[in-house]
Amino acid sequence: MRAFLKKMVGKAPESVVELAKVVYDLTPPRMRYGKPYVDAVNLLAAGERWSVEELASYRDTRLVKLIEHCYDHVPYYRDAFDASGIVPSDIKGMADIANLPFLTKRIVRERKQDLVADNFPYLQQDREHTSGSTGAPLDFLLDRETRAMEMALALRVLLWLGYTQGDRVAEFKEDRFADPRRISRYFPGSRHLKFSFFTVDDDKLDRMVGELERFRPVFIKAFPSSILVLARWMERNGRAIPPPKYIVTSSENLYPSIREHAERVFQAPVIDYYGQNERVATAFQCQLAGGYHVQMEEAAVELIPSRGDQCEIVGTSLTAFGMPFIRYRTGDLAIPASEPCPCGRSHPLISRIVGRGCDVIVTPERNIVAPVAMDYAFYHLEEIREAQIVQESIDTLRVKIVPWESLSDMTRGTLLREIDSYLQSPTMKVIWDEVGEIPRTAGGKRPFVVSRINVDEYI
Ligand SMILES: [Zn+2]
Repeated sequence: MRAFLKKMVGKAPESVVELAKVVYDLTPPRMRYGKPYVDAVNLLAAGERWSVEELASYRDTRLVKLIEHCYDHVPYYRDAFDASGIVPSDIKGMADIANLPFLTKRIVRERKQDLVADNFPYLQQDREHTSGSTGAPLDFLLDRETRAMEMALALRVLLWLGYTQGDRVAEFKEDRFADPRRISRYFPGSRHLKFSFFTVDDDKLDRMVGELERFRPVFIKAFPSSILVLARWMERNGRAIPPPKYIVTSSENLYPSIREHAERVFQAPVIDYYGQNERVATAFQCQLAGGYHVQMEEAAVELIPSRGDQCEIVGTSLTAFGMPFIRYRTGDLAIPASEPCPCGRSHPLISRIVGRGCDVIVTPERNIVAPVAMDYAFYHLEEIREAQIVQESIDTLRVKIVPWESLSDMTRGTLLREIDSYLQSPTMKVIWDEVGEIPRTAGGKRPFVVSRINVDEYI
């Protein structure tokens, strides 16, 4: 239904599409997303009560079905399995999955057509795109079961945090409106107040905080880079809103300084939601212990040892039968947990999401500098509104700075000294670039580190 509607209204003027979304939102989700959504919600409800063994058994049953389907209907996999001498009956569950080849972004790009199942109905094909803020963009197709599971998981994360129907939610994510002066739009069906954060200035931030004061959200959902700007503006201007229950961040790395700012200013805990547009692995931070619970009903997730104690997240979607992603390498790094979570949930735990593999800086001396510490250097300085580090080549780093008003020599000097102390590189050239704005990606994201080099070549 959603893919079909998107195809129908895709060519209408932006303002019409925007209003259509508000009306669409008035339909209950069960009608909006249909049977796949009802099935996903029911599955997640059952999954809440399952033991680890029951979750694993469900996952293995789906895996067997997926592999059989791929062999029968997806040319790329039939070739790949034949080339590796694998027949579907070899795969009985997760224990056998290591025999299957990895799927990479490059393969998706080069063999896209061969990855689409020959029985995937055209009207159910929903185009998806990753903007490639830290790599090349990627186009692929999603099916309604995968979309429905995503919606059901977005509900589950709130339910785990105590959401009840009718709770007000403010959202600072990828929305933008036909009228660029408009800062928000209310969706009465889901009681979501959605803000556009693509371009913000003092006046817009002031109006946004005013709307938040009146709206009194129970939950705030935001990209980390947006909540950081908002929190720092509120702190600078001595503004506060009634504390929400939780702030849920997603889609960008959540650096410790962002969490600190947001928790201090909003007086509410931040919970991080890990996922990616390819929907091959989702994990929510646990409000009790801080680790991330892997959502086993959605995908078979593997943690493949990468660097030191870090592992790459590799995922197989259990719902995507239209364009299946089997053992897809996300490029994201995580540290597995050694102990189960004290909350008692059966969903396995990742202790920490380190971030995207390419989200690191590599010096000409081949030292790896993780931005996780560096962002402190930027955001404890009062005069800096936003910042981004772009590694343009192995020996060139461009530091983009958006000041609130202007930058003093002292701030500039302090920051350059701190960057030097993190890099420890006598040969890295640092270009200082003061800009009026750092553009967000088409999806509304603004990563702290952008790497234009192939990190894997150097480490
Ligand atoms: Zn837990």
